[in-house]
Order: sequence, then C-alpha cells, then structure tokens
Amino acid sequence: MNLGFTTARGWSGHRAGWAHTRSAATAAQGDNGGVRDDAPVRRYDVVVIGSGFGGSVAALRAAEKGYSVAVLEAGRRFADHELPQTSWRVRRFLWAPALGCLGIQRLTLLRGRRGAGMLVLSGAGVGGGSLVYANTLYRPPPEFFSDPQWRDITDWQAELAPWYDLAGRMLGVTTYPDDTPADVAMRAVAERMGAGGTYRPTPVGVYFGEPGRTVPDPYFGGAGPDRAGCLHCGACMTGCRHNAKNSLPKNYLWLAERAGAAVVPRTTVTAVRPAAGGGYQVTAVATGPGPRRRRVYHAGQVVFAAGALGTQRLLHAMRARGDLPRLSDRIGHLTRSNSEAILGASVPARAAKRRGLAFHQGVAITGSFHPDARTHIEPVRYGEGANALGLLQSALVAGGPARPLRWLGALLRAPHLIVHRTWVRRWSQRTVIALVMQSLDNSVTVRWRRAWYGRRRLLAEPGTGEPNPTWIPAGHRAARLLAEQIGGYPGGAITEAFNVPLTAHILGGAVIGADPSRGVVDAYHRVFGHPGLHVLDGAAVCANLGVNPALTITALAERAMALWPCRGEPDPRPPLGEPYRRVEPVPPAHPAVPAGAL
Ligand SMILES: Cc1cc2nc3c(=O)[nH]c(=O)nc-3n(C[C@H](O)[C@H](O)[C@H](O)COP(=O)(O)OP(=O)(O)OC[C@H]3O[C@@H](n4cnc5c(N)ncnc54)[C@H](O)[C@@H]3O)c2cc1C
Ligand code: SF4
Repeated sequence: MNLGFTTARGWSGHRAGWAHTRSAATAAQGDNGGVRDDAPVRRYDVVVIGSGFGGSVAALRAAEKGYSVAVLEAGRRFADHELPQTSWRVRRFLWAPALGCLGIQRLTLLRGRRGAGMLVLSGAGVGGGSLVYANTLYRPPPEFFSDPQWRDITDWQAELAPWYDLAGRMLGVTTYPDDTPADVAMRAVAERMGAGGTYRPTPVGVYFGEPGRTVPDPYFGGAGPDRAGCLHCGACMTGCRHNAKNSLPKNYLWLAERAGAAVVPRTTVTAVRPAAGGGYQVTAVATGPGPRRRRVYHAGQVVFAAGALGTQRLLHAMRARGDLPRLSDRIGHLTRSNSEAILGASVPARAAKRRGLAFHQGVAITGSFHPDARTHIEPVRYGEGANALGLLQSALVAGGPARPLRWLGALLRAPHLIVHRTWVRRWSQRTVIALVMQSLDNSVTVRWRRAWYGRRRLLAEPGTGEPNPTWIPAGHRAARLLAEQIGGYPGGAITEAFNVPLTAHILGGAVIGADPSRGVVDAYHRVFGHPGLHVLDGAAVCANLGVNPALTITALAERAMALWPCRGEPDPRPPLGEPYRRVEPVPPAHPAVPAGAL
C-alpha cells in the first residue's frame, strides 16, 4: 500500500488543495449516512485532528518541513474580544454543540464501573485546551521519566530535556512575579502542613509587560503577533480577552498559519480509514446542530491530536468498525486522571464583602506546594463574575463507605451552608480553589461499550496500578485548613460525593510502548500497525505527572516532529515495528522564526 512515501524511506505527499478526481462516496468505502456523491476530496500531505497543544506543534513543525497541512478543529475560532466575558456567557463558555453552544469549556462525564468514572474538564476551539487553561507550565518530577511503561526504551529525561527547553521558549514560560491574597492563604496552609519550604510561584505562559500596554511581538523576532501586558484579572480560564495569555493562537498556530497550514474550525472528524491507493481518508462533519454536511480529506500522514478522550474515542470507534483493524488492543489502557481532585474553600458572601476579599486577583494559578513528595497543590481562581462553576461545589466528605449518605448528612447538619453554596454571587472573589495532583501510579482502562440505548460509548473500568483515587486525604486536609485560614467552609466537586472525581488533566489511553503488546504508539509516536498514523496529544502520555501536563505534551510533540524528515527527504527513523534507536533531529527546511530569535 502506498502511504505517501516516495521511496521505502522517503516521504512525499500530495499538494495541498482540492481534488475532484474521486468522489467522497467512492472514497468513504461504504460509509453511509448522507455522503454527497459530488463532495470533493481535499488533499493534503498531513491532516491534524485537533488544534490543542499536540496538534499545534504538529501543524507548525510539519509546515516548516515543507508539507501541506490541514488542521481540523471541532470548535470555533475566537478573536480575543469574542471570548466569554464570564462563565455565564454559556454559548461562548460551554461546549454543547447539539444545543448550539460552541464554547471553550468541555465537561464530559466519563462513565465508569467500580469507582473508575470521572468528570473531565477539557478545552475546545482553535487553540484547544490553551483557550481555557490556566497557563501553568511545570516540568514533571523524575519519576515520570522512569515510569515502567516506557523507561526501557530510552533515557527520556535526557532525551526530552532540549524539547522542554524549546517548548518553554515557544510558550513564553516565566515565573509569576507577584504575591496574591490566595497565595498568602495557601502558603499559610503549606506551613501548617509542614511544607512551607516547598511553596513557590508558578512558571506560567503569560506576557507580563506593562499592564494593558500593547507592544510588537516580544517572543519571535517579529514573526509573532503584537501582545499586551497582563492585567492580573484572574480570567485566564474563561479565555484571556486582553492578549496577554500565551495561548496557542498567539504562538504555534499563529506561526503555523503563516507557514501555510490551513486551520479549519467547526469541523469534527468522525472517521479515519485507509484509502484505496494509499494514504488515509479522513471524514468530518460540520460541528453544531442541524443538518451536518460531510467533508472528506485525504492525507499520507494523519496526526491524532484531539485530546486524550477525543483521540481515544476515534481510535476505539475505528477499531470496532474494522476501519483500522491492526490497532493495538492496548487502546484505552493507562488512562489517567493525573491522580487529581479539585477542592477549595469559600467565604460566605456577606462576610467576604465586609472583608473586601479579592481572591480572584492574579493569573489563574500563581503558586504551589508539595505536602508530600508525590502530592502537589495549587491555588486556582476565576476572574470577577465568572461564578458559574461555583455551582459544582458542594460539601466536602471523606471517602469510604456510604459516602453519598454521609454527604447528605453533612448538608443536613449545616443547612445554612446549602444556601451559601448555591448563592454563587461573587464566588470567584471569595473562593480559593485547590487543585490537587499526584505523581502516583493509578489508572483506569477505557473500553468502547454498547450502552442500553444501543449506541457505543466510552466506559472506564479499574486499570493497572492503584485504583484511581476517589478522594485524596492530603487534599482534603489542605481544603479544611484553607477554610480555617480564610474563615470559610471547605468544598469539593459535587460529583466527588458520589466517588466521581473531577479532573482537568486527563491523560493516556494511546500511550507510548516498546511494541504493540505494550502500547498503541512507538517511541516516535507512530501508531503500531498503521503506518502514516500518529498520536501527538495527551493520549500518548503514559504516566501521571503530578503537575499540569501541557508543557509535557508540547515537549513530546516537539521531539516527535523534530524526527520527521523534511518533505521528499529520506526518513531517518527505523521502519515502524523495528526497535527504537536514537536519531538526530531533522532541522526544518523553512523555519518560521528567524534564526537566533527564540
Ligand atoms: C479549566 C482547565 C484549566 C487547565 N489548566 C492547565 C494548566 O494551567 N496547565 C496545564 O498544563 N494544563 C492545563 N489544563 C489541561 C490542558 O488544557 C490539557 O492537558 C491540554 O490542552 C491537552 O492538550 P492536547 O494536545 O492533548 O489536546 P487539547 O488541547 O485538549 O486539544 C484537543 C482539541 O481537539 C479538538 N477535537 C476533539 N475531538 C475532535 C474531533 N473529533 N475532530 C476535530 N477536533 C476534535 C478539541 O475541540 C480540542 O480543541 C487545563 C484544562 C482545563 C480544562
Ligand atoms: S490574568 Fe487576565 S490579562 Fe492576565 S493572562 Fe489571565 S486573563 Fe489575561
């Protein structure tokens, strides 16, 4: 089968653009459901599914190497002023396309058996999770690099070090420069937990120039956009409307589009299958309610970067339908929540007003500490008026038997707090969220199961390692101390009371492994069994990081793309299926950033 290679070891591809030579109906090979016979096939060398961290790196680096690239993104494109002013702007904040909400915040309930379910927060839109994320860009601790899943392949810490450096420069990582009211409270908690010495300001991807002042591109030697200094308004997680957050449309995607990549918003990929004659057929539909027009793309190389859940969903579906029959049966294994919980403490509204509390000041995350070697806690905030997610907060109840009953008991014992919790006015100003993450070995296995109503869906079961934590004692202790510290009450996500933890950092499910019996992709992120397919997003990450994952996803993608050949050149990597060997990075033929500027 010809998959776009000019020789056994050399890559080529098709020129970008439109081809009317084959109809979509022919190309889709039996796909039904309203494919228009005359739908043109759009041909590219590389199709990237999703425009988050992994997808944006893939788009830029492939374009720099001379490939024609299309990035298919389910979400819409936002200009800064179109981002939601607060989380109450539901159509721009929340993702529910069937209802016409094409917002930046996805909320997905991953159903599970025996405590394996979780509520997953993720991003949508051109820029993926970077639109909604909290800018925090930590490197993970050493245990991540020596996880048994991948430590036998190479010395990951050494091999990834230059790519973390590059990712950090591209995302403009700098240390948060101020001390905020939330840091003062959280540092006191750290001290009471005997970990005051570990408290430190976060590394963040934000431009801190003169607040509000616009300057010419400060990062890419003039190749990037103008930027403006951060206002410390705390609104990063409803999308920065002030041009200060280093989201992907300000760096990787900006440069990728100028290097020739086509970014196609509102386009949800539904199928990827080998095309007759070589390469892959990628089928997509227009995102949103109403009649969904189908679009068909063809590419020699397809990069899955739809986020850990989005990529898994596509791969599971393609395997179940027999479209990608040689996929490893490790799909869904080692799906991780980053061993996470989202807790916090709030002060009742009247007291907070009297005391003039302003916990929303700062960027979304400004500091963090380690109550023990494997647990990491960060104070998090939303901006003024962004109070909608306060509705998810409820009484904090420790794990163990009869937890929902104990939760009910906690509510009944303090009925006045029910009112405080549901009255979310000024919630962001009077709340410090505590994001708890752990670098422990726990996971779930996600399977593709038929639901009672007939359709297939993702279903989580307990996986390898420890069970996924439904509560984290050190996190609960921190939330209770935080409540004491600020004179408020502790809280956790309402789903936690039903043993469904909340995570913003879902990872894994199509992880790197030495061979198809151990992973879904090889150490170059190539999908075992299907040459030309790649996974470059959070799905490839094989272990809990205990820190926020975006920098790691970016660094992994940078490394993987650096090993791609330039268009038409020989491929330095061993053929798919052969053992790993270290190869030299291939410099881009047409760098997007002037030499020496980064
Ligand atoms: C509120 C919040 C705060 C966060 N804060 C931080 C932080 O401070 N630091 C950090 O490191 N991480 C943070 N994260 C996590 C971070 O956003 C993710 O880890 C990261 O974005 C994952 O990158 P990715 O490349 O795997 O995919 P994503 O960035 O999730 O991008 C995937 C993209 O693919 C699109 N997509 C999905 N399915 C399809 C399909 N079928 N067809 C086409 N497109 C599709 C999605 O719309 C999305 O745009 C946060 C997450 C949330 C929700
Ligand atoms: S604090 Fe405000 S101005 Fe600064 S990055 Fe976040 S949203 Fe933008």
